[in-house]
Amino acid sequence: MIYLDYTANMPAAREALNAFVEAEARFPGNPNAHHAAGREAAAYLRDVTEGTAALLGVRPEEIIFTSGASESNSTAILGLAYAARHIGRHILTTPLEHASVSGCLTFLQEQGYEVDVLHTDRQGRLDLDELNELLRPDTVLLTLCAVDSELGIPQPVREARELLSAHPQCRLHVDATQAPGKMAFDYTLADTVSLSAHKFGGLNGSGLLIKKSGVAMEPLIHGGVSSTLYRSGTPAVALAASLRTALSITQERLDERLDTVRALNARLRKALAARPGITVYSPENAVPHILNLGVSGIRGSAMRDKLDRRGICVSVKSACSVENTPSRAVYALTGQRRAALEAFRVSLSHQTTEEEIARLIEAIDEIRTESTI
Ligand code: PMP
Repeated sequence: MIYLDYTANMPAAREALNAFVEAEARFPGNPNAHHAAGREAAAYLRDVTEGTAALLGVRPEEIIFTSGASESNSTAILGLAYAARHIGRHILTTPLEHASVSGCLTFLQEQGYEVDVLHTDRQGRLDLDELNELLRPDTVLLTLCAVDSELGIPQPVREARELLSAHPQCRLHVDATQAPGKMAFDYTLADTVSLSAHKFGGLNGSGLLIKKSGVAMEPLIHGGVSSTLYRSGTPAVALAASLRTALSITQERLDERLDTVRALNARLRKALAARPGITVYSPENAVPHILNLGVSGIRGSAMRDKLDRRGICVSVKSACSVENTPSRAVYALTGQRRAALEAFRVSLSHQTTEEEIARLIEAIDEIRTESTI
């Protein structure tokens, strides 16, 4: 099998698995419990939280461990919107957001919130002039991704933050799920930031939300005192430990791994450019791990299935989106429904080999020949 869907799930790093097993074995107590076993687990969780915060450049009390980015996005978006309901109900976002962000916004619209979706330029970056024009005294939230999962386009988060300084009532939430391991990112820029461990070599069902101290947010999960006010329940100590380990390795090896992935991406782009009828939608400024493309006359979902039958795993849109609908992200970038239907995503990692890229290109050629007969 050739796995080219690292954006959907990155295999767990051996070190992260070991950290999980070790923590699970060493700390049997519930960190919320008031006895020696509980205190030991709580102390270890504090250590893990401090280590994670240091890696991200934030304060330990700003870390909320969650079950993943979907929960982090819901916690932040709903929690910030509800906490600011007395100020206003206007929210701004981009068309490149993951379903866990756009789904929350639809849910809020049903409750009377007004949501405006900003346009992007030809490179897929949000239009900052439009953002400036649409900000109003009742705008309480701007939610955007650091880099999207379909096209891999980094967004101008710093510039957006600067514009927001004239609107102190408006909070900034950033879904940075796809940033670790793909690009450097300043985690102190936003009021809240989501991450998911399984995107950078941690385990599924584990993530975190950074919430700046002093930012008002209503919790989603209620019930009892825990390590944080914002997410009740027994903290998953071993998952947090494995997240810290995975993050540390990812950050440490970022540059070296980026070089590998850049070279693979260049090779793939060169081969695709030489083939008529193939369009690459990910712009040149996209992170090299994500390459969104389409083959003329073949639906993205059909390409995915044909590649799957040849033992190659790729995705259409993101794994959590609705099947057989055009890609909102590719439509936003191209304005073409046809492109949005033909698009599919190949995602690479430092584990990808040149042979795998060669086999992918060969398989795309086979499918194109078969489809034109
Ligand atoms: N945001 C983005 C940009 C993602 O790529 C994903 C995962 N596909 C999520 C959020 C949701 O993450 P999780 O699977 O941890 O809920």
